[in-house]
Amino acid sequence: MGTIFTKIMAGEIPAKIVYQDDQSLAFRDIDPKAPTHILVIPRQEIPNLGAATAADETLLGHLLIVAHKVAEQEGIAAGGYRLVINNGANAGQAVPHIHIHVLGGRRLGWPPG
Ligand code: 5GP
Repeated sequence: MGTIFTKIMAGEIPAKIVYQDDQSLAFRDIDPKAPTHILVIPRQEIPNLGAATAADETLLGHLLIVAHKVAEQEGIAAGGYRLVINNGANAGQAVPHIHIHVLGGRRLGWPPG
């Protein structure tokens, strides 16, 4: 199996990686929706939140810590930023590998469309 993110993790598809550790990877979105738009993904291939289990709690929490670390690195933490997880069809999830969008660098509207 696997998705486009599997190929990015394997280095088979180039990506602008901004952070990585043993559990996660963060790279720039290829089609940015804000001046800063980064995707934080677990190395473990979990398709969506429905597929996550209690065993993944620490990993999912880790992704939030990484998201903030990346926001600080990008200089958007102080001004504020948004984290988004599109989960399932109605949310527009296109890649079945859990990912957190880190969006910032401009004023973000609410509610999202
Ligand atoms: P989703 O819609 O599933 O929440 O978000 C998937 C995201 O992955 C989209 O924002 C899309 O632009 C991004 N994406 C899709 N393919 C690639 C790729 O090959 N490289 C990078 N860097 N981002 C991708």
